[in-house]
Amino acid sequence: MKKNNAYIGVDIGGTNLRASLVDGKGGILKSLRTPVRIDLGPDRAFEKLLAQCRELVEAAGEFGLKAGGVGLGVAGKIDPAAGTVVFSPNLPALNGFPLGRELGEKLGIPVVMENDANAFGLGESWAGAARDLDNWVGITLGTGTGGCLFLGGKLWEGAGLGFCAEIGHMIILPDGPPCGCGSRGCLESFASASALMRGAREICPAGGSYADVLRGLTERNELSAASIYSAARSGDAASKKLFETMGWALGIGLSNIFSLLGIDRAVIGGGVSSAWDAFIGPLRASLEKSASMFDAQRAVVVRGSLGDDAAQIGAARLAESSVG
Ligand SMILES: [Zn+2]
Repeated sequence: MKKNNAYIGVDIGGTNLRASLVDGKGGILKSLRTPVRIDLGPDRAFEKLLAQCRELVEAAGEFGLKAGGVGLGVAGKIDPAAGTVVFSPNLPALNGFPLGRELGEKLGIPVVMENDANAFGLGESWAGAARDLDNWVGITLGTGTGGCLFLGGKLWEGAGLGFCAEIGHMIILPDGPPCGCGSRGCLESFASASALMRGAREICPAGGSYADVLRGLTERNELSAASIYSAARSGDAASKKLFETMGWALGIGLSNIFSLLGIDRAVIGGGVSSAWDAFIGPLRASLEKSASMFDAQRAVVVRGSLGDDAAQIGAARLAESSVG
């Protein structure tokens, strides 16, 4: 890391572009958030991304620093060498788009890309809840369900196939609910904002008081992970059940991962992790029930400590470590 360098970390989501200027220790100097509709096509989104990065390059100068590089965290399968989004189930408009390459050419500084869940992990490992952990699994609960793995203190990158630690697509229940990836019964189909919304819509036709609260939210067009969580907190049984199912599925998923890898630490982040108290109890019960090789009492499952900023800080870390 050059002493006078700062780095730009961007978290590219389906509805927001969030970018931060990050110092050499993982501290945020300035943050920007721009609403974006990536589903309307990549070109406008790219213009907004470019404008954000230019503003942060300028801001670095105001801090007496130089923007050394940009890291992009994107949901989906990435080709880091080509700077391209290969396949993004939740942001299909970006498929095949040379995001990193074009941005690098326009800005004239290096741009690196990473899957957003790996970026989350790099952030938590650099400046968050996983700072002191060498062997752990990260799970992000957002629109979809992402994952990352740190083994021996390093991000596990697989065999260079463009994907790894796709924990969201680990099958929890064969022939279970459909998943965005085309398969069925994946962890993502139980433990994500999309899973909560789908589950709520399925409960609605059941009728009777059991479905009333969720039906009201659907009819008022107010159904979201946050509104389902509020309903669960107010004691709505159907909403609570959706979070219990989420915890159940996460417990099974973590049990498989812990047993496979011989680890027992997990950090969970992403927007839906703010509903922590609604699913952590069922998660722990499910983990305990499915634990055979590891000691569920000793296993540690914690919330990420960087909140919404984790992927931006991690993307900046990626830029820092690859640019120097
Ligand atoms: Zn899937």
